[in-house]
Amino acid sequence: MKQFQKGSVHFDNVGKRYGAVTALKQLNLSIDPGQLVTLLGPSGCGKTTTLRLIAGLESASEGKIIIGGEDVTHLSATYRKVSMVFQSYALFPHMTVAENVAYGLTVNGMPKKQATEKAEQGLEMVGLAGFGARLPSELSGGQQQRVAVARAVVLEPEVLLLDEPLSNLDAKLRRHVREEIRKIQQELNLTAVYVTHDQEEAMAVSDRIIVMKNAEIAQEGTPHDLYERPNSAFIADFIGDSNLVGCDILSTDQESTEIRLGRKQIRVPISTSLKGHAQAVLRPHHLQLDLTNRDVPFEGEVTYAAYLGNEIQYTVQGDFGEMFVINQAVGQPIAVGQTVGIGISVEDLRLVPDDE
Ligand code: ATP
Repeated sequence: MKQFQKGSVHFDNVGKRYGAVTALKQLNLSIDPGQLVTLLGPSGCGKTTTLRLIAGLESASEGKIIIGGEDVTHLSATYRKVSMVFQSYALFPHMTVAENVAYGLTVNGMPKKQATEKAEQGLEMVGLAGFGARLPSELSGGQQQRVAVARAVVLEPEVLLLDEPLSNLDAKLRRHVREEIRKIQQELNLTAVYVTHDQEEAMAVSDRIIVMKNAEIAQEGTPHDLYERPNSAFIADFIGDSNLVGCDILSTDQESTEIRLGRKQIRVPISTSLKGHAQAVLRPHHLQLDLTNRDVPFEGEVTYAAYLGNEIQYTVQGDFGEMFVINQAVGQPIAVGQTVGIGISVEDLRLVPDDE
């Protein structure tokens, strides 16, 4: 019998169908206690369904859900030791901030005085000490979301669930609130499952990311694993920017692979099990534009240049298609219309299979 720890989440072949729609194919996942794991993927891939299955807001069509060692597959949301933070904050508008945070505690039977004290501690934790007497409408969006986090966390859940918690906030606030959420989760050593479709947000907050596509897991790993070792063109494109360019695999051994890429035959210091044809993953900031050197895999014409202060982003077009290049040499801009060579960094090149 497998041992499960408090705060862990396990899915054993969990599937979910809505009539003819398969929202989730048989999913197996394991989340360790104290980890923040993000479910990431394009719209409709099954992220929210997975989160709602953990919360008990949906019931599984098949399989087993285990939280902290307890089989909760048939347990309703009320009896699961989880709290959810919603995209819409879902605060009660007629209650003060402190009453909102204390609400769940009093519903669970905690005496009012104790619940109020705990709510105050919760507000302090999210940096809102002294805001308890206000109404939610008297707070900014970021502050309201922090109240929602405090309200979920004071319940001391085994698992904290966050459903796109930042999507109603503007870009600058989003970064600030995500850092706070991560800090609180780490300080309290909470298990958290976080849903987003924003890959940068996922990379910034997660111990592990589960990338989903078409109702199943496409790849899972640490942000570093996914970026450095994508298993498909989809992941290479979804996690960080990348150019995907077809190449021929000529030979491979345990340490390196010989490929034909663009106009060149090159040796890259990675081994691969791929044969025949594959896609080279070229990250935009690993490419070098060169006005004079033509002994490089690609040559093309600069069709677009965007100056962003600390970098210039170029689009280069050639017989390889279109390539996105980021160049830090802002002091030497290259004009649109110029012909350039594009050099690659062989250490940073990755290979993924052609799309099926
Ligand atoms: P988004 O980022 O757009 O929220 P998601 O990855 O969270 O997408 P889900 O909401 O989990 O996706 O939906 C997965 C699939 O299940 C979609 O095809 C969706 O249309 C379908 N679906 C979700 N809820 C229902 C429902 N109540 N009835 C029928 N189909 C549903």
